[in-house]
Amino acid sequence: MYRIRMHGRGGQGMKTASRILGTAFFLEGFEVQDAPRYGAERRGAPMFAYVRADRKTIYERGIIVHPDLVVVSDDSLIAMATAGVLTGLTAETPLLICSNREASFYHERYDLKCQVIVFRLPPTTSSRSPRSSSCAGAAAALLGMISPHNLNQAVAQELHTLPSNLLKENQQAARTVFDKLQDFKGIVQRRAKMEIGRPQWLDLPLEVASIAAPIIHAPASSLQMNTGVWRTLRPTIDLEECIACGQCNTYCPDGAISLNTEGKPTIDYDHCKGCLICLAQCPAQAITAQPEQEEVS
Ligand code: SF4
Ligand code: SF4
Repeated sequence: MYRIRMHGRGGQGMKTASRILGTAFFLEGFEVQDAPRYGAERRGAPMFAYVRADRKTIYERGIIVHPDLVVVSDDSLIAMATAGVLTGLTAETPLLICSNREASFYHERYDLKCQVIVFRLPPTTSSRSPRSSSCAGAAAALLGMISPHNLNQAVAQELHTLPSNLLKENQQAARTVFDKLQDFKGIVQRRAKMEIGRPQWLDLPLEVASIAAPIIHAPASSLQMNTGVWRTLRPTIDLEECIACGQCNTYCPDGAISLNTEGKPTIDYDHCKGCLICLAQCPAQAITAQPEQEEVS
């Protein structure tokens, strides 16, 4: 069985990438599972999708903790422990990253023992990036048993609602990346069958929730959740331009903006998710947004 985990941020199309890859496997005659995993969150939040493919019926369920291939569409997620990109990686698990950097950069920064392969997104004429098709095409190249024809068909099936020019651009992007990575064709090793033990019977005493889950019932536990790591755009307030109207404080859905005694705002970047509602509401246009800089750890 092949087990592939694909990491990205909400809105980057990794769910679609997993569907394209799953459909390509299916067209090759494999049994397939593909599913995304994310919470009730927003664009920019870490998410992943996974694909299982086998010639036999797949009985395994749940998220993939021991992947044969990990695909990353946004390298800022690697340093983020909660994104779990490196979970279950061994020296035999290729790490495929969509990036403009060199593979050696990741080896040095994260002390990786596995093979790292990087690929770039092909240039596009539209404002919609063919990221999902490119990631699926890159994964298909490394897997080595998906034909260009079936990859093309899979993109067409999964993106059939796109206008024909965008669909064509996605098909071309998938093929371009697929062709560029042919030096790595077939490097993904199928892991030996996983041992799944019989479940043991557990006796769970029944307790009221306030006793069984005291942490959930403790006050202010949401402060422990650093939602600032979801942010891809960072709002910045120019206090010279600010007229202290308080609108940003009122509209911020996360209560991440506080006002001082003069009514001037401060953003709590640990909990600002980067939705930019504050920017849209500011009557003085005192708030601007910049792409979030990757934190160097
Ligand atoms: S972008 Fe603005 S409105 Fe959105 S969470 Fe951050 S501070 Fe609040
Ligand atoms: S909405 Fe704009 S002008 Fe009003 S307090 Fe916030 S930053 Fe200042």
